[in-house]
Amino acid sequence: MKSWSHPAVPSLAGTGPIPELFDTATGTLKRACSTAHASLYVCGITPYDATHLGHAATYLAYDTLVRVWLDAGKDVRYVQNITDVDDPLLERAAATGVDWRELAASQVDLFRSDMQHLRVIPPQHYVGVTEVIDDVADAVARLLQAGVAYRVPSEDADDDLYFDSAAAASVAWSLGSESGLDRETMMRLSAERGGDPERAGKRDPLDPLLWRAERAGEPAWDSVLGRGRPGWHIECAVIALDRHDETITVNGGGSDLIFPHHEFSAGHVAALTGEPLAEIYSHTGMVAYQGEKMSKSLGNLVLVSRLVAAGVDPRAIRLALLSEHYRSDWEWTDAHVRRANVRLSSWSDWAADCDAVDADPKVATLRETLSHDLDTPRALEQIDAHVAAGQPATRALVDAIDALLGIRLV
Ligand code: ZN
Repeated sequence: MKSWSHPAVPSLAGTGPIPELFDTATGTLKRACSTAHASLYVCGITPYDATHLGHAATYLAYDTLVRVWLDAGKDVRYVQNITDVDDPLLERAAATGVDWRELAASQVDLFRSDMQHLRVIPPQHYVGVTEVIDDVADAVARLLQAGVAYRVPSEDADDDLYFDSAAAASVAWSLGSESGLDRETMMRLSAERGGDPERAGKRDPLDPLLWRAERAGEPAWDSVLGRGRPGWHIECAVIALDRHDETITVNGGGSDLIFPHHEFSAGHVAALTGEPLAEIYSHTGMVAYQGEKMSKSLGNLVLVSRLVAAGVDPRAIRLALLSEHYRSDWEWTDAHVRRANVRLSSWSDWAADCDAVDADPKVATLRETLSHDLDTPRALEQIDAHVAAGQPATRALVDAIDALLGIRLV
């Protein structure tokens, strides 16, 4: 699928350090990338509602990682999916009387435009699930053959297919190895986040759906498994495998994907290849608004597109989001935009008289700060202090702010 246009990224003299990133699976900071290229798979949107600031914060966190990797001289391979067929999308389409394909296409368009406004570097591969149905069906057929998938009869359709978590346990993955959660928590989260622990006929209530047989009124595709559509976690497992030829460096997404989504994507990849999905499982915090997590289902959304339409400078939105650490849970307030506007205006005034100096020790400080688990709040404060102290603006530092933080000042 078409992604969006690549923002200009100035190249800087020298290279920055390889970043350290927090890994959910081990609960430690890990050096992100030991090989010549760095690979990233970030779970994309389910396109049934426009990009809210919680999404934007996630994609900006991984944009910062991509920028830091590029600055470290890494060849970056970035893949993102679009869950363009899924229950919430179909439910929204039915509720609003819009064809689900039209709803998805219009929301993907809006997402592209939001990402472009925020100057997010696009993935090289932007893949819709509907583009890889055959690949997913083939992978599920292999899991069946390997004895790690099984049939669950249904009253109104052919058998559905489920992943056998216990049979799939190996050195590369076992239930809980990505999330580190206890069983009780997994049961609760499974019920809350799209799983079906109550479904009769499953070997383990936590086993996730791999393939849903066709139901009346639902979209379905012909495949080696008969007519149906993919389950959620296998989509990401297959897209990640299809576009990356080895264990990826970082699998990223919001912390609400830790379980069940990333747990089982990792389980599916391990069952298909014998290898872990990722070296690092990285998660971003949740953004709240008016006291609750910002979510489509609650409807308490602040949309990037609405802020832009209301005249907010997209650079201020970017600065507002970068002013909170990507792993924190935090609450969006109007004060975030006010503070970001003040910051943007003071930095812009400072940069307007920039000297054509192409070396500045502050560039090394900025690189160092961001390499510690993408510490953008501290990076912004360091630049604030530099500006407030009346230190001269150099071309080198102004370019570094553009290349690493995505904020073009002049
Ligand atoms: Zn995913």
